[in-house]
Amino acid sequence: GQNIDASLIADDFDPETDDDLLGGLDVETTEAIPIPDRLVDQVIGQDTARDIVEKAATQRRHVMMIGSPGTGKSMLAKAMSQLLPKEELQDVLVYHNPDDGNEPKVRTVPAGKGRQIINAHREEARKRNRMRTFLMWTLIAIIGGYAIFLAKDLLLGAIAVAVVYLMFNYGSRGTNAVIPNLLVDNADTETVPFEDATGAHAGALLGDVRHDPFQSGGMETPSHDRVEPGAIHRANKGVLFVDEINTLDIRSQQKLMTAIQEGEFSITGQSERSSGAMVHTEPVPTDFVMVAAGNLDAMENMHPALRSRIKGYGYEVYMNDTIDDTPEMRRKYARFVAQEVEKDGSLPHFTRDAIGEVVHDAQRRAMRKDHLTLKLRDLGGLVRVAGDIARAEDAENTTRDHVLQAKQRSRSIEQQIADNYIERRKDYELTVSDGNVVGRVNGLAVMGDDSGIVMPVMAEIAPSQGSGQVIATGKLQDIAEEAVQNVSAIIKKFSDEKIAKKDIHIQYVQAYEGVQGDSASVTMATAVISALEDIPIDQSIAMTGSLSVRGDVLPVGGVTHKIEAAAKAGIKTVIIPKANEQDVMIEEEYEEMVEIIPVSHISEVLEVALTGESKIERLTDRLRTITGHALEPSVEQ
Ligand code: ADP
Repeated sequence: GQNIDASLIADDFDPETDDDLLGGLDVETTEAIPIPDRLVDQVIGQDTARDIVEKAATQRRHVMMIGSPGTGKSMLAKAMSQLLPKEELQDVLVYHNPDDGNEPKVRTVPAGKGRQIINAHREEARKRNRMRTFLMWTLIAIIGGYAIFLAKDLLLGAIAVAVVYLMFNYGSRGTNAVIPNLLVDNADTETVPFEDATGAHAGALLGDVRHDPFQSGGMETPSHDRVEPGAIHRANKGVLFVDEINTLDIRSQQKLMTAIQEGEFSITGQSERSSGAMVHTEPVPTDFVMVAAGNLDAMENMHPALRSRIKGYGYEVYMNDTIDDTPEMRRKYARFVAQEVEKDGSLPHFTRDAIGEVVHDAQRRAMRKDHLTLKLRDLGGLVRVAGDIARAEDAENTTRDHVLQAKQRSRSIEQQIADNYIERRKDYELTVSDGNVVGRVNGLAVMGDDSGIVMPVMAEIAPSQGSGQVIATGKLQDIAEEAVQNVSAIIKKFSDEKIAKKDIHIQYVQAYEGVQGDSASVTMATAVISALEDIPIDQSIAMTGSLSVRGDVLPVGGVTHKIEAAAKAGIKTVIIPKANEQDVMIEEEYEEMVEIIPVSHISEVLEVALTGESKIERLTDRLRTITGHALEPSVEQ
């Protein structure tokens, strides 16, 4: 099952010392990596969820999966359908009800039987039709022949023929009603049904009865023939998967709950004014296992009764976003590449180096030291783009170079904007990366999930008319106020200048949409201190970090992307929180370009960033003395 065959691991591989990106896997390309047959064995990571799905399958219990998109929820639900017993599958037929045309009868038969029944009915109808046609033409011949040849009246003959013809066709109208409607057909089903009802509207989920435009006059379609199954009916004896469960409207959730509870649910027309709404079938079986999924806030908007229903009769499981980076795991990621290649069916196999580059990207995307991302849908996207590039070149294999190109190409919108922005700013020389300037700091911010950007901050101090204020432009206001509040205690302690009587103006040199404004407080504090003390800041430095009221530099998100953005902009040194040191996973090409300085206190930031020896020493010395209780959070303005 799950683990890669030991015979595929190189003999001389030492898991303790070797840092092979393939975890010692001794293969030339993905072609040599065997893929497990069962889908459940193809699932990477998510051990808890996998165990639960296997257990729930044997017990026929419901499962609720909570986690990020693309971590394998629907894959596991599908895997579950491979594990459920196939023997119990059923076909469902809907029959005309001669007593009440609006309440069609429902009959359940073992899988495969439904088609036989339909075929038998058709055969009978065909026979009857042939008989009727024969009768009709015989009559036409006799009556028509009599009129034309014996009575010598052509018109009378034609009328007689027409009357006979119409009589027969009007009479045959009822024959449709005899053939039942095969609502659910499992004749060819290999595994039990897997129905994905994510985002389904009421009709698709609960079944529907089509509208009949001809409701009388001999043209109408009998109601049992207009009945259509919903996902809950097709999923009978199988798995019903609903992702983003909270987006299902409450009424549908309620009905879903009834279906789960009763194990059957009759079908009616969903649009109220349609003729279908009058039709109401006998109950149709809905004995499925429910796999509901969503992200964390799915639980909040989910109908509480539905949730407790699932919880009470099943399991809840949380999906992991990352997993420990071990040699065994790396081998599985190599197999993941093989799985994605096979699934696509047309991508050239990946070379060792190409696989290694994908694993490396899994490390980077984890944004956590010694972890690999489990957001594998996105990683699968990278595999496909790389394979497509290789295929477009008619290459025999997908190589590392193809993967690198794919990374470039599959940049997110935010990354593209950020890169574009860096280019543009280089043109206008808005990013200053050399010289010394008072009150100006190269801050670092994140756009979207995965793009860094250099955002210079400027601080200026002006005498205040009243009590001192923090004045910031645009959306910066809140962030700036908070940042200044956080640092005001520190500033007050060491600065000779009295900031209470001063206005502090803070602005981004060029702010723009989509930037997350957190983690700017070290930047702002540095800018304010520089402005207050009139000490210039080295512009070849950029920084990120959050600041406590005691001057501790606290960790922030996105350091890897921020450092890369700084390097791209020509920055030479990047100051990051010491606590983030282990999150740094920058690409090789940038390693040479920037020096990274981890710090844990604002005094260290100033030591690096401020220029002009004597003054700095005085400042930082004083700052260092400010620790612990000397700076209670209560020391606010
Ligand atoms: P979700 O339902 O959580 O949004 P999916 O199950 O639809 O994610 O995942 C999409 C695709 O990504 C899968 O078909 C598979 O190719 C890949 N994938 C996602 N998670 C995993 C995993 N844990 N192991 C292997 N492949 C995965």
